[in-house]
Amino acid sequence: MKVEQVLHMKGGVGKDSYGNNSSHPRSVISMVKPILGESIIEVYSAMSSFECLKIADLGCSAGPNALLVVSEIIDIVDEICRRLKRPRPCLQAFLNDLPGNDFNAVFTYSLPSFYERLEREKGTKFRNNCFVAGVPGSFYGRLFPPNSLHFVQSSYAIMWISKAPKELVSKTGSSLNKGNICVAKTSPTAVLEAYLEQLKRDFELFLRCRAEEIVSRGCMILTTMGSINSNDPLTIWEFVGLKLNEMVAEGLIEDEKLVSFDLPYYAASVKEVKNVIEAEGSFKLQKLESFSIDRDDYIKKADNDHVVDKTARSAIIARDIRAVGEPILASHFGQDIMDDLFCRFEDGVLDYMEAHKCQYINIVMSLTKKDV
Ligand code: SAH
Repeated sequence: MKVEQVLHMKGGVGKDSYGNNSSHPRSVISMVKPILGESIIEVYSAMSSFECLKIADLGCSAGPNALLVVSEIIDIVDEICRRLKRPRPCLQAFLNDLPGNDFNAVFTYSLPSFYERLEREKGTKFRNNCFVAGVPGSFYGRLFPPNSLHFVQSSYAIMWISKAPKELVSKTGSSLNKGNICVAKTSPTAVLEAYLEQLKRDFELFLRCRAEEIVSRGCMILTTMGSINSNDPLTIWEFVGLKLNEMVAEGLIEDEKLVSFDLPYYAASVKEVKNVIEAEGSFKLQKLESFSIDRDDYIKKADNDHVVDKTARSAIIARDIRAVGEPILASHFGQDIMDDLFCRFEDGVLDYMEAHKCQYINIVMSLTKKDV
């Protein structure tokens, strides 16, 4: 099945939904706010006061994060207007994701509270000048008319590549990455190379499409999961793979099922993304930063009263990873094994993370479209 038919975060507003299990990406979005601020100032300064500021969030998903960056941009613009004594601009925000995303949850639950906050904090006039629209489709293709956007942002989305590389299956039909579901410690070099080539093709296409859509000197902030070196293992998904292997050994999943599954996921290194940006050539790289955080850092930080013990932390991490991984895993392995898989995951995840010093590596890129 095509990735766009099976890749989406868990929708709805229930306790298992992505919306209720996305504190980690939310904490990363707030860490990136200073870079976002610099970029918006640059974009806004180049615009006339009467122009409508057009922005897009690519891979917005559903839940509170879907409108978070748009809200932050509004706060930044509001602050600049106050400082420069300029009238607040009209603003149009496009929320993009794959068609399987729960856009209904975004427009039914998140948008009304977004508008209420806007009305309360910025007044009716600003609220009536902010327009939000959904744009379903893959960002590995054109989404907007030429020269129509001033600013694009994407958070925690472009490590999802358009497909698992076809080179993972040899000419004779055997799998190169047998027993793994992503780049893992035991993957042969050819697997890593195949994923890297797919990343290069996809990221270059992504940049080329955005270069068509973004106005000259418009900006883009991309935050993604990365790796320090290209041979770092993708440990959290690797751990999911280990649990799937365990279930194969117990006869709960057919070996063939596991052999034929590869995640469309590649966490590139700083050098790898930089090389693609330079080779593609449409954008000037203003800033490229990477920072790592412990996988349970966001839980510990939110736990002011120190009540969340190891068992509770494991459960939170399992719910978070399940909200991301379940739709694509269930489409291949079947819904009926998901409870068992994530129970096993929850049981061992913290010990595994400690033993392997798992961290989230984040890469933030600030880009400006070159004048042509
Ligand atoms: N930006 C949100 C969501 C991150 S989850 C946050 O920071 O919390 C990643 C999202 O990217 C998912 O909703 C997934 O469906 C979307 N995505 C992955 N590949 C995509 C593609 N090719 N085009 C558009 N969206 C994509």
